[in-house]
Amino acid sequence: MFDTLSDRLTSVLQNLRGKGKLSDADIDATAREIRIALLEADVALPVVREFIKQVKDRAKGAEVSQALNPAQQVIKIVNEELIGILGGETRRLNLAKNPPSVIMLAGLQGSGKTTLAGKLALWLKKQGHTPLLVACDLQRPNAVTQLQVVGERAGVTTFAPEPGNGVGDPVDVARRSIEEARRAQHDVVIVDTAGRLGVDEELMRQAADIRDAVTPDETLFVVDAMIGQDAVTTAEAFRDGVGFSGVVLTKLDGDARGGAALSVRHVTGKPILFASNGEKLEDFDVFHPDRMASRILGMGDVLTLIEQAEQAFDQEKAERAAAKLGTGELTLEDFLEQMQAVRRMGPIGNLLGMLPGAGQMKEQLAQVDDSHLDRLQAIIRGMTPAERANPKIINASRRQRIAKGSGVTVREVNDLVNRFFEARKMMQQMAGRFGFGLGGSATK
Ligand code: GDP
Repeated sequence: MFDTLSDRLTSVLQNLRGKGKLSDADIDATAREIRIALLEADVALPVVREFIKQVKDRAKGAEVSQALNPAQQVIKIVNEELIGILGGETRRLNLAKNPPSVIMLAGLQGSGKTTLAGKLALWLKKQGHTPLLVACDLQRPNAVTQLQVVGERAGVTTFAPEPGNGVGDPVDVARRSIEEARRAQHDVVIVDTAGRLGVDEELMRQAADIRDAVTPDETLFVVDAMIGQDAVTTAEAFRDGVGFSGVVLTKLDGDARGGAALSVRHVTGKPILFASNGEKLEDFDVFHPDRMASRILGMGDVLTLIEQAEQAFDQEKAERAAAKLGTGELTLEDFLEQMQAVRRMGPIGNLLGMLPGAGQMKEQLAQVDDSHLDRLQAIIRGMTPAERANPKIINASRRQRIAKGSGVTVREVNDLVNRFFEARKMMQQMAGRFGFGLGGSATK
């Protein structure tokens, strides 16, 4: 899902890389490309318009970040706007203070409601809840049996009308299920309602009657992400006919364009709570707008990384250190400052894990050890300011003192000092050969 959109956006943004400064024309051209990518992915037109306007205004406006180059700034803006369209903050499920909480599922037939009921039940059960599934879809043949099967797989109880009593009244079943939940101490009731192939009044009326009978804490509109532009019109019909507090996107594992589903939040103003991405009960997760945006932009969590870098690095200090690189004036104090900035960004394994493609190297990342960096810092802290500025003055007895004071071996102190001299020499040679001072480009 979103693969085409993701590919298109990634290549549009890729084209910006390497540009020192973006002209208004560059921004307009980029905005045009993004617009096409969104429309091709089936994102609804009003959503696209608003998105493009925001990106343009912000990219041309005075949003200047010292730590980011122009291309990175546009990527950051696109990402933030995408998160905004997807709903901003992650919206958690609201459960009632006095159980049982009632969650009602509504949506078209085939949207994945029954499957979702099982997924939600399993998910809640894993968190220590005791959900009760309620079969109020008494229209579709086998819908009750299907819910019972799903309930069994999830290991939860299903409440259904007795078989053989005719069609039964879904409103009555819903009402009785709440009494049953109280009696048997189920703290969450999940009500599966009937869908139709298309939106019709009878369907809406029945869903509204069930709603009035059980006053749900959450009414979730379940929408198949593969139905294209109909997702938006269906969402509007359910909003007006039944009303809902949140959206669940299903079939995100499909290969359709999916952009319509991305528009649902913006068009209805209701948050997306969950995403379903497969037929198995485990194929389900809380919907995180920020992670989805990252995924769509194909950038791992690089943006989080950029933000952390912005916070952790002191631009002036970084530039001062960079300027010194070629002159041989670099000191251990500068080295310490840079190391501290990196450490402020969190464990190194986590930092590397945010890079695109990191998913494939999970095992290696788990082995990245921060203690090495911490030991180096301890050694430098054990030195006097004069020694940090000019490590040449550190004689053998001082090396022993420093090792003892920072809890490392003398060899580690020697290694650090020697490697520092080598690195500084190398920098000087490179600067000499290429004739650059390296000044002012530390983070660009
Ligand atoms: P309902 O009519 O709304 O209750 O829909 P169902 O739960 O019966 O789902 C309709 C079909 O979609 C079934 O074949 C499900 O297995 C399938 N389905 C539901 N959710 C997903 C999903 O996230 N991914 C995929 N690939 N199939 C799904």
